[in-house]
Amino acid sequence: MQAPDSTASKPSNFLRQIIESDLASGCLDGRRYAGVPGDARQLAAAPLDAARIRTRFPPEPNGYLHIGHAKSICLNFGLARDYGGVCHLRLDDTNPEKEDAEYVQAIRDAVRWLGFDWVANGVSHEYFASDYFDLMYSAACALIESGMAYVDEQSADAMRRNRGTLTEPGVDSPWRDRPAADSLRRFAEMRDGRHAEGSMVLRARIDMASPNINLRDPTIYRIKFAEHHRTGSRWCIYPMYTFAHPIEDALERITHSICTLEFEDQRPFYDWLLGHLAELGVLARPLPHQYEFARLNLSYVVTSKRKLAQLVTDGHVAGWDDPRLPTIAGLRRRGYSAGALRLFAERIGVSKSDAWIDYATLEGALRDDLDPQAARAMAVLDPLKLVLLNWDEMAGDAAALEACSAPVHPHQPERGRRGFKLGRELWIERGDYAEQPPKGFFRLFPGNRVRLKYGYVVECVGALRDADGRVVEVHARVVPDTRSGTPGADAVKVKGVITWVGAADGVAAEFRLYERLFVDAQPDAGGRDFLASLNPDSLRVAQGWIEPAAAAARPGTSFQFERHGYFVADALDHAAAAPVFNRTTRLRSGV
Ligand code: ATP
Ligand code: MG
Repeated sequence: MQAPDSTASKPSNFLRQIIESDLASGCLDGRRYAGVPGDARQLAAAPLDAARIRTRFPPEPNGYLHIGHAKSICLNFGLARDYGGVCHLRLDDTNPEKEDAEYVQAIRDAVRWLGFDWVANGVSHEYFASDYFDLMYSAACALIESGMAYVDEQSADAMRRNRGTLTEPGVDSPWRDRPAADSLRRFAEMRDGRHAEGSMVLRARIDMASPNINLRDPTIYRIKFAEHHRTGSRWCIYPMYTFAHPIEDALERITHSICTLEFEDQRPFYDWLLGHLAELGVLARPLPHQYEFARLNLSYVVTSKRKLAQLVTDGHVAGWDDPRLPTIAGLRRRGYSAGALRLFAERIGVSKSDAWIDYATLEGALRDDLDPQAARAMAVLDPLKLVLLNWDEMAGDAAALEACSAPVHPHQPERGRRGFKLGRELWIERGDYAEQPPKGFFRLFPGNRVRLKYGYVVECVGALRDADGRVVEVHARVVPDTRSGTPGADAVKVKGVITWVGAADGVAAEFRLYERLFVDAQPDAGGRDFLASLNPDSLRVAQGWIEPAAAAARPGTSFQFERHGYFVADALDHAAAAPVFNRTTRLRSGV
């Protein structure tokens, strides 16, 4: 079950071209898959893989996913869907200290909410890298036995010093040529907890003079006495990411392992490792291939789990789902739809060079997705009372209420109409009244006429002020026979139309008005302290009024509040009797 395709034909990109040419050449044929990941021995008797390609989305469960991960999810799950393949959700949990089951659940929620699923034909493809620790351990032993790995007992400092530089080759470790049996015994002792953290590591034995520093005998296992969220204290050695990741891909029969550009320099090690493990009979062929694409950099946003974690733990935001955060949970709570994120991912596409995407691109996708869906409603965010002085003459009684209605959606009459009441008193925006109107101001000022949207034309006669001179009440008179939708209503021409909420049936509401979290477009570029550009005014809470239909909405429902923008009923705090709305975005960018 995957998210529906939003366009009939997708623009091509270099990854699609690679997949199409691989499918055409037949180089992926002959892959066996046992229904579960496995090494060469386990896969030898397995049937041919029915999935035409396999991709994976491999987050480390050390935080909540963000908008950059959304790009990767849409890419990996989208390619699998489009080419008759399967995408695995792999929790890459080889680094125990910062990982947690809470994050695992948040990752599942985010992927599902985005509209993707790792269950294909009733088979779940959710995998944990930690389930492969035994296989990884034996792969490491196979490398040691064949002279391709050794236990190095140099100090961390000496190792760093001997690694060389971009211009100078490295220096061989004195332990590099120790007998395999010696390394094997030491490696087993490391596993058994007989050596201290940092006292020794297992290294691949490749080439200390390689121009690619990643090939200068990279560390593949280190000692870490850390409790793992799944394996507990069973292991006190953990594989390095660069060793674990290719093996995970091979065990899962991934065909196209898609990662971000920083890993380009790791690709030679990826291929070295898998090639040797296949030769040694540990892993089955054909082997996976790594391809790199440019990560998403979005203006005014930081996309690093570590930095997002800092914002959360230091209390700069209210939690991982704070609507100001670019986490999927935060965007969702802010009112971003899954469709908007998918549309955004599609519009930005994939490329091989890093670039910054303007936040307006994300907001554009958001508005395009919300516009046809969001019901319309009126809301007053900065309320000022308007009193219609001649209401009793008009309506026969000062307490009389007139039923008004407006379409739920202006372009979808089938969605029906929403009802609300007009009476003697109503709420308007404070900014819609000016005693001394600036040039070009067409709304309420003494002597001017405006239309109350879906209601009458009214003529302003003045305002009441409190002791401090602040306007507390605007007075107007209804112009007879101007009720919207009645014959002759347009005979009286006005230049301004204002939105309003009836005092009788309006519901008091809280509005959480969010702004950018950072004032700088590239808050963390060049290693800058991103906390220095936090926007002190990223949240303003306003108390106002909304029409009854909006108050009654279920939490999580999006609206377009006329003139104000898109809002969502807060998923946690909204209730019909005490509505809470988050501003998702304004109607246009840059206002
Ligand atoms: P972070 O630094 O935020 O922790 P990461 O890359 O370490 O990011 P992982 O959990 O390892 O996070 O990422 C899972 C997948 O998501 C990886 O394949 C990674 O390439 C991809 N990914 C992470 N950030 C971005 C981004 N900004 N744009 C595109 N893909 C991303
Ligand atoms: Mg990371």
